[in-house]
Amino acid sequence: MTTGCWPRVSRCRWCARPVLRDNEGTWIHADLAYVCRDSSGGLAATTAEPEQVRRAS
Ligand SMILES: [Zn+2]
Repeated sequence: MTTGCWPRVSRCRWCARPVLRDNEGTWIHADLAYVCRDSSGGLAATTAEPEQVRRAS
């Protein structure tokens, strides 16, 4: 079973687009943009961040 592991793709908490990790472990949108865009295509003030953050304890 793979439960308990990070899914490869999550959803951005800001813009709800798919986000994944780059080679350095930084979250990036599936279209390879770090910065969120709003519905009109303008740059938002937020960067890719998964919807739910779980820390290993
Ligand atoms: Zn986003």
